[in-house]
Amino acid sequence: MSVRIAKSAGFCFGVSRAVELVEQAAGSGKKVATLGPIIHNRHVVDKFRTLGVGVIDRPDQARPGQTVIIRSHGVSRNVYERLEKQGVEIIDATCPFVKRIHGIVSRAEEEGKLPVIIGTPTHPEVEGIAGWCSHCEVFAGPEELENWAKSQNNLKNSSICMVSQTTSTESLWKSCGKIAKKEFTNLKIFDTICRATEYRQSEAAELSEVCQSMVVVGDPKSSNTGRLAMICREHCDKVFLVDNASDLKAEDFCGVTDVGITAGASTPAWIIKE
Ligand code: SF4
Repeated sequence: MSVRIAKSAGFCFGVSRAVELVEQAAGSGKKVATLGPIIHNRHVVDKFRTLGVGVIDRPDQARPGQTVIIRSHGVSRNVYERLEKQGVEIIDATCPFVKRIHGIVSRAEEEGKLPVIIGTPTHPEVEGIAGWCSHCEVFAGPEELENWAKSQNNLKNSSICMVSQTTSTESLWKSCGKIAKKEFTNLKIFDTICRATEYRQSEAAELSEVCQSMVVVGDPKSSNTGRLAMICREHCDKVFLVDNASDLKAEDFCGVTDVGITAGASTPAWIIKE
């Protein structure tokens, strides 16, 4: 059986940077906690726990003197302020691509524009981006955007700045762009999709077209990984979304000659190779 591993499988630049920052902080003898799990991968979180890295859910759980690491998804402005009040050292592992979006929406609002974010409203990255302006609109997709645009007469000439969650798909973003250009006359669009995600998704699509079976490795809670599995299912009937090798059985691959493997951005290389 031939097994092909996608070149883009596993940690992206932003996740790799965040994990390195945690490793460095843990190795320096500081009392370290991450605000939320550093990445959507229990194996990595468990490994850090054994090195003394705790996980807090809210800024008010931080203790003075502690070092708190902000994960690559980023957080709202208000969370930084609350952490500062707790008297902690902050290590900012927000991915620079996400940080750029914080700057875009914040500046847009200062210039009198209304920020519009295309993304999953409850996703931590989107909540973080929304928290860099006092008022914005968030839409999961083109239908929601169009309904909102048509629901209010005064929106046509409003000054609007549109950005995307970094992990949105190209097709969803293009559909939203088409609607926005039709509905608004005073519009500025920033394509903020992360190319690492786009590359991973297109490689997964290509691989799943030529393989009889696909294995997508990653945390089932990660939207990134779920989306990869969804893309693979568009081209391949036999797709397994697994946390690690122990979730697979030999009989799953009976009669299969070609298997492709891809993995979400939060999956370390050692789990993919297992
Ligand atoms: Fe950064 Fe892209 Fe990785 Fe998200 S997927 S952490 S935006 S490099």
